[in-house]
Amino acid sequence: MVDDDPETCALLRRALEPQGWQVTTRLRAQEALADLEREEFDLLLTDLRMPGMDGLTLVERVRAMGPGPEVVVVTGQGTLEDAVRALRLGAVGFLPKPFSLEHLEAVVEKALQVRRLRQRAAELERYEAEVRQGFGQMRTLAAGLSEANELGTVADVGLEQALGVAGCEVGWLRLWEAETAEFVLIRQEGLSPRYIRERERMQLTGGSVLDWLAQSHQTQVIEAPEQDPRVSPMLRAERLQRLLMVPLVARGRLIGFIGLGTRRPQPLAAFRIELLDTLGQILATALETARLHEALTSQATHDSLTGLLNRRGLEEQYLAEYARAVRFGWPLAAVMLDLDHFKAMNDTYGHLAGDQALRQVARLFREHLRSFDLAGRYGGEEFLLILPNSGKPGALSVAEKLRDLVASQPVCWGGREIPLTVSAGVAGFPDDTRESEELIRLADAALYAAKRGGRNRVCAAEPAEDAGGAGPP
Ligand code: GH3
Ligand code: MG
Ligand code: MG
Repeated sequence: MVDDDPETCALLRRALEPQGWQVTTRLRAQEALADLEREEFDLLLTDLRMPGMDGLTLVERVRAMGPGPEVVVVTGQGTLEDAVRALRLGAVGFLPKPFSLEHLEAVVEKALQVRRLRQRAAELERYEAEVRQGFGQMRTLAAGLSEANELGTVADVGLEQALGVAGCEVGWLRLWEAETAEFVLIRQEGLSPRYIRERERMQLTGGSVLDWLAQSHQTQVIEAPEQDPRVSPMLRAERLQRLLMVPLVARGRLIGFIGLGTRRPQPLAAFRIELLDTLGQILATALETARLHEALTSQATHDSLTGLLNRRGLEEQYLAEYARAVRFGWPLAAVMLDLDHFKAMNDTYGHLAGDQALRQVARLFREHLRSFDLAGRYGGEEFLLILPNSGKPGALSVAEKLRDLVASQPVCWGGREIPLTVSAGVAGFPDDTRESEELIRLADAALYAAKRGGRNRVCAAEPAEDAGGAGPP
């Protein structure tokens, strides 16, 4: 209450304090304004005629402050016109002097009702903005998923939108791997290198948040995870202040989850948690589809007997590797291998023994090549290896090592040990040629040289006439 008359102030205080209101009284508008800037008030009762700043100016200033208190003007005789102007300026009511206590109470109650409605309206406006934003994020998710085929891309899109919906800056996505019974880290954002290194894989251990997740299939929110015994010590060390665990459920099964964390938590609307549940379901289905897609693609590009790339897969990946080698000026080598007298082995021991030999050779290749080398079954008993970033001498020694390994490990079949050898031809880019097809042809030609030379040996290609690496013409 601001009134230059101390009597009115005192009267008001006596009337309102017993009702449970906290009353602050001021004799000058400037003082009231200073209070209002510092503190939140629900209601301002103001006199109109005061020395210094008058009541109308005060009303104007208070309304300009935005969501300030409701204002009721208290009018003496002859200020009725001013009271009407005050209403136009944003006051919610006026109280003519002298007033009865009942009148005062009625006006105060009305004003506070208006205040509550105004606050509720502001809340709903904020809520609406949040809901709109949430819808926008789900739309972006749907659009992103409709364009993504690969598991990695689906995971990227999902994690990004989950971070947005939850208002978090740390997030990670794990998928269940049935063969190892572990959750494998697929994507992450903002986790410490130590966590990523040591928790790439994790098992389902009793008593953790994951158990809850597996049972409830609902997003779990943990405030203060640093002190929560259900959170693993490694995760506690990430110093998160809020942790959300979103289950990825497809066809009723927990196929993985998204962890979300923030170090500066904002209030989290309940509907956002529901949104995360929905996001988890949509994403889980998309991830399952992507896995299926990958399995199918893998069938199209892999050989089912040996598990190596088939000719089509090999050619696809070879061209990509070749383009990279050309672009960055890296060397690249091709090694063509063929089993020696394989027809005789089939004829003598049967086709199944032959298959076993093919599997065994493929396993040797897989075990002894680098992870980024390509190994494929080029034809029946012919294999092609592509060694990126490998010069011709290096490739020759790799081929020699493999030849030696095959020769020293006979095929075990039906209680017998069947000796097996391979021949190999090696060609290198840019030493022998600068053409991708020519590189394969040269490796093949070298292989035939090895066959002609007596088998169980490795031959290097003769550089093509137009080879670029052989120096100036
Ligand atoms: P060389 O040392 O000159 O290469 O003689 P080779 O007998 O290995 O060559 P050839 O081309 O005469 O015979 C290849 C054999 O490989 C014939 C074919 O039946 C066999 N083969 C091709 N694919 C498979 C397969 O998937 N499984 C089995 N068991 N044999 C296969
Ligand atoms: Mg052969
Ligand atoms: Mg052959």
